[in-house]
Amino acid sequence: PPLYMQRYQFVIDYVKTYRPKKVIDFGCAECCLLKKLKFHRNGIQLLVGVDINSVVLLKRMHTLAPLISDYLQPSDGPLTIELYQGSVTEREPCTRGFDLVTCVELIEHLELVEVASFSEVVFGYMSPGAVIVSTPNAEFNPLLPGLRGFRNYDHKFEWTRAEFQTWAHKVCRDYGYSVHFTGVGEAVGHWREVGFCTQIAVFQRNFHDTMSNAERLEPSVYRLMYRVVY
Ligand code: SAM
Repeated sequence: PPLYMQRYQFVIDYVKTYRPKKVIDFGCAECCLLKKLKFHRNGIQLLVGVDINSVVLLKRMHTLAPLISDYLQPSDGPLTIELYQGSVTEREPCTRGFDLVTCVELIEHLELVEVASFSEVVFGYMSPGAVIVSTPNAEFNPLLPGLRGFRNYDHKFEWTRAEFQTWAHKVCRDYGYSVHFTGVGEAVGHWREVGFCTQIAVFQRNFHDTMSNAERLEPSVYRLMYRVVY
């Protein structure tokens, strides 16, 4: 399967194993991952997508609407899906108390000063139970045919494994998380040494959560674009 599908599948497998109830996908763009998570719910009750770009959100958000089959075969309990226009660098009270935050191919679109506020907002302020962050592994780039510079014109950086791990370990020290590293897309033979094409960090909060049963606040910073209740 193509790499982006492997990234989504990684998240789906995680959800299958750890069964988070409240999930936020940052940089959800055209809601592809959200749609897959809606299909493979595994007990998710609240599914939120956030993107800074309302135009990409508007494009495909209606594909999250219930299908006739959702009514014919009522699934495991109620599900709410919400889409917001907002930035991962902003503190939004209604994003606290989540079990899982996913950031698939998002951080490399931020300036480094924004990465610092992203870390503070996501790990310090939102403080979710777990965070999955994926980003290109720069060490893999020589294997990509015809590539000069970054993989996408909008990338502000692409990190080596050491750079990604340095950032992640600092986040763990600053905000009380543990991390392990993995990825998707492997080279063959001796090229395996360059690591995965997409590197992934999976963070787990070290301390017990105090917010997950708190009453849900109305959004005050993000802009609500879409809400559907199944
Ligand atoms: N996660 C999706 C996927 O894997 O298919 C899309 C990734 S796309 C490469 C990066 C997305 O991040 C874009 O839709 C962009 O608008 C969004 N983005 C960039 N900066 C952001 C920010 N500060 N806050 C929220 N989203 C942002």
